[in-house]
Amino acid sequence: MSAVDRSAGAGATYEAVIGLEVHAELLTASKIFCGCPAIFGGAPNQHTCPVCLGMPGVLPVLNRRVVEFAIRAGLAAHCTIAPYSRWARKNYFYPDLAKGYQISQYELPICAGGWLDVPVDGTTKRVRLTRIHMEEDTGKNIHDAHGSESLVDFNRCGVPLLEIVSEPDLSSPAEAGAYLRALRTLVRYLGICDGNMEEGSFRCDANVSVRPRGTIALGVKAEVKNMNSFRSVEKAIAYEIARQARVLEEGGRVVQETRLWDADREETRSMRSKESAHDYRYFPDPDLPPLLVSHELVAEVGRSMPELPDARRTRFVASLNLPEYDAEVLTSRRDLADYFEAVVAAHPNAKAASNWVMGDVLRLVKERKLDDALVITEWPVAAAHLGELIALIDEGAISGKIAKTVFEEMVATGEAPRAIVAARGLTQVSDEGAIAAAIDGVLAAHPDKVADFRAGKDKLLGFFVGQVMKATAGKANPTLVNRLLVEKLR
Ligand code: ADP
Ligand code: ZN
Ligand code: MG
Repeated sequence: MSAVDRSAGAGATYEAVIGLEVHAELLTASKIFCGCPAIFGGAPNQHTCPVCLGMPGVLPVLNRRVVEFAIRAGLAAHCTIAPYSRWARKNYFYPDLAKGYQISQYELPICAGGWLDVPVDGTTKRVRLTRIHMEEDTGKNIHDAHGSESLVDFNRCGVPLLEIVSEPDLSSPAEAGAYLRALRTLVRYLGICDGNMEEGSFRCDANVSVRPRGTIALGVKAEVKNMNSFRSVEKAIAYEIARQARVLEEGGRVVQETRLWDADREETRSMRSKESAHDYRYFPDPDLPPLLVSHELVAEVGRSMPELPDARRTRFVASLNLPEYDAEVLTSRRDLADYFEAVVAAHPNAKAASNWVMGDVLRLVKERKLDDALVITEWPVAAAHLGELIALIDEGAISGKIAKTVFEEMVATGEAPRAIVAARGLTQVSDEGAIAAAIDGVLAAHPDKVADFRAGKDKLLGFFVGQVMKATAGKANPTLVNRLLVEKLR
């Protein structure tokens, strides 16, 4: 059994088939069919009006921005953008939607086909998309702890969503996680969704089935809901694969159903038998005209698209000579890639810039919890300053070690590195005479170690280097120290 088999949990006999349905809340100012603000939070039912409360006699008016955002997503994912698509009513009774139906798209969605190239284990996996459609979000039911009262908050009702449906192309929890991350990166790049899984603005339902390894027919699937982090999506899928494989191994049958992930008990539980499309009595919404998307609109949206993560990653490798890994980390966020490029623009040493950004800068970003933000505006240090710091190292003005001290000072004071180096007298000593004098002092203080070295204890070189650096307050040029030490000890 390979490691992949084990991680998938399906064992050698079964293999997993996974398709994801992702709901991404769009970052429009207002809701999809009314003028209420589409923002998270607020007092319950504060952001509501007769339209999103589903009062009789009101009419929905489509927010044009939602269509533009859907086209952005569709273009980025290589979909076909439909010149003609329709709104459909998905009918169901549940108190999170007052009017008894959700306005969605059904047989004619705005985007069809397409794919996402997903980095998995050092290779790239192409995951096909079925479709991307627009719909309105529902309200939220809040149940009190005693189970005696339920409250409804319609603030979220009518917030625009994209539903992004993948083909069943994924075959392990890790692949599903990688796809989800790539998709989140993409919607954040496009500026259409903040991708916040905890707040529920980026949600994922996982369709999971297993089948005898090597066979083609799809097994019966379960749809798993209620995961609010990448980790929980992966865990829920792994659990579900193992559960279904066990059912089949014991001679049972998997039933088509909706299951809920219980994060505390780390298991999925049956919620309801799966409804099928005909239960929803989909029909074209008579309140909304068919949606016509012109070539001009698609072209206009196309012109407004930023460079996408795949293209940027490829460019970082090809023209900046960065390792794949660096390129992937740096392009994982658009603002991070922008920041990195600004550092390189200030001083063209891409690998050094990458090391600083991936190491010291990202560490601080994490510590300050800035990495949750959609766009980081408060970088710990200005990109131009970081470029200048790298320039100082490359010019030999300061050592890499001193640079760390200067960096801390930059973080603390916001000052430019040249100013810090000048004010604190941190300029590297490259004067051979001064270094030679320091070396003589160190060698004179440790005659026994000098003798040991000459008798063959090569490892002592490090000790001497350390002592000389200490004697020069870390300012001696380390290359010179090494060379002169070896000469003198010979
Ligand atoms: P439903 O009619 O239950 O909504 P769909 O055919 O619309 O099912 O597919 C919904 C999602 O489930 C898609 O992401 C699709 O790739 C995935 N899917 C469909 N069949 C299977 C299966 N047998 N195993 C795993 N995923 C599946
Ligand atoms: Zn409203
Ligand atoms: Mg479906």
